[in-house]
Amino acid sequence: MKALVFNGPRNIQYESFDDPKITNNSNLILKVEKCSICGSDLHMYHGDVLGPKLDYSQPMAKFCTGHETIGEVVEIGSGVSTHKVGDRVLIAGGMGCGKCKRCLSGQLNICEQAASGKPALAYGITPGFNGGHAEYMEVPFADIGAAKIPDGVTDEQAILLTDALATGYYGVKMAHVKPGDSVAVIGQGPVGLMAAEAAMAVGASRVYCIDPDETRRNLSLHFGGIPLSPDEAIERIREDTNGIGIDAVIEAVGVGPTLKQAVRLLRWGGSLSVLGMLQKGTELPLQIMQAKSLNFHAGVSGIVSMWDELIPLVQAGRIQGKGVFTHEFSLAEGAEAFRLFDAREDGVIKTMITL
Ligand SMILES: [Zn+2]
Ligand SMILES: [Zn+2]
Repeated sequence: MKALVFNGPRNIQYESFDDPKITNNSNLILKVEKCSICGSDLHMYHGDVLGPKLDYSQPMAKFCTGHETIGEVVEIGSGVSTHKVGDRVLIAGGMGCGKCKRCLSGQLNICEQAASGKPALAYGITPGFNGGHAEYMEVPFADIGAAKIPDGVTDEQAILLTDALATGYYGVKMAHVKPGDSVAVIGQGPVGLMAAEAAMAVGASRVYCIDPDETRRNLSLHFGGIPLSPDEAIERIREDTNGIGIDAVIEAVGVGPTLKQAVRLLRWGGSLSVLGMLQKGTELPLQIMQAKSLNFHAGVSGIVSMWDELIPLVQAGRIQGKGVFTHEFSLAEGAEAFRLFDAREDGVIKTMITL
């Protein structure tokens, strides 16, 4: 088959790769219809270090990239009970062992196997776990990690449910957003944008959408967000909250200056939820966080456990994801899709790769 293959930093190529086979009876084979590139794929693209061990600047075995994928089931393992050949499914953008207590409750992000030091179970990100930027992919633990594309959900929305929307919603939950709350989302890439729309959907009274890029922040106008540039954010939010500060901040960038800004924006006792992928050595103003008695959470979404709440909100039109997909490519144009997405050229927010 053909796939996008990681050959090293800034070197993801469209090339031939072995067809996937079912290696475990709880897995299925997917014929990929559409896939997208995630902001977190750019760490791989840049040759960054992720987690304690994964250093993309070092030589590693080739693997197919991609963890945001939808498609048609073409083969199932004998242990798969909830899918059949011909179903159209969306795939959770992360996996676990599928057997431990956490995985069985849908919290694949805190799988006990990963916690016990086994290699990260993330496909499309590590050698040995091939992803969905490919004509075919093996989907692990398919009863948990795949879901039929629900009625009333578009292909674009299904792709958003594989990661960006589920991650954004996780950020909202971890920031304990309640009806009436004021919320700021820092960073209006796809995840930040989805977090902002989700915060609105669960009843936030005001959602400030902060990004230096005017086109990005203005996308939030679709769902009633308040776009702000980083320079005006502190003053405007202080003014709007009578100097008290905001109830919740979702940080979707993951660098020191935006984390610091998040802490400044919050009221005493407010909640900070960090979705941005943190790099080694990123600093947090812990002393100020303690003085303000903040609630703090940093984590990676357990995608699957978000679906029960999110899918009805999408079906009802309360979350739409309007304007997120700006560019379309074929799989053969994947290297260019990565380049353009990384360079943020041509007003790109998110790319759709159609097979
Ligand atoms: Zn991702
Ligand atoms: Zn597990």
